[in-house]
Amino acid sequence: MPLFDTHAHYYDEKFGSPEEQETLLCDVLKEVPRIINCGITPSTSEICLGWAKKHAGLFAACGLHPENISGSRAENTKMLDQISGMLDDPECVAVGEIGLDYYWTSDNREEQKSVFSSQLDMALEKKLPVVIHDREAHGDCLDIVSGFRGRGLKGVFHSFSGSPETARELIKLGFYISFSGVITFKNAVKPVEVLKILPEDRILAETDCPYLAPVPFRGKLNDSRLMRHSVAKIAEIRGTGFDEMVRITERNAVSLFEKCTVLNP
Ligand SMILES: [Zn+2]
Repeated sequence: MPLFDTHAHYYDEKFGSPEEQETLLCDVLKEVPRIINCGITPSTSEICLGWAKKHAGLFAACGLHPENISGSRAENTKMLDQISGMLDDPECVAVGEIGLDYYWTSDNREEQKSVFSSQLDMALEKKLPVVIHDREAHGDCLDIVSGFRGRGLKGVFHSFSGSPETARELIKLGFYISFSGVITFKNAVKPVEVLKILPEDRILAETDCPYLAPVPFRGKLNDSRLMRHSVAKIAEIRGTGFDEMVRITERNAVSLFEKCTVLNP
């Protein structure tokens, strides 16, 4: 039963040199045959596209992450133009990782909102789903995506940390909610509450590796092979079997990321 990791960052230097990163990726793909590698800048998005062309089952998301926004508006416009140019690539399956982060950087909220909205527009125009990072910005994220109501915007809130009330609103807007290793943490109260109230067809699973390794590997280097611990926990909370939850999350991932339906041999 194949796992599908909908959110990873294999170009991260925590995985070593570019050669070591790619070697690890090849090993991981043998166990987890579908992975979406998410860019956070134009250069990392370019790496994701390059690797997606070389490795069957590996797909790319291209986007400008809120932590990587520049203080210069001209620089942000240039980076958005570069991202926009990548979205027509057949290997690009989503616009991401994009969103708002008021935890690390809260002094540039207006610019974050503007860059986020621009990328949602781009996704709509290119008919691609979005992968959203929302850290301590639940109200503003909900406001912004609500502005796209009825226009066919699809996407996922990854490793979601908001309340069940916010999750309910996002579900009404057509979004999916994704769970990382955080769901296995003892202090993960809200994610467990959210998981319990979600419709079955909106649940996704991910690693966000190299970060957020699940228990019993919390704090260690994460990779897609450890995702089975998170999926086992998701299954336990939802009262289903492990294989059934693998099937559910895989089916949901393919229905959101439509370009990932073809699993190359
Ligand atoms: Zn991420």
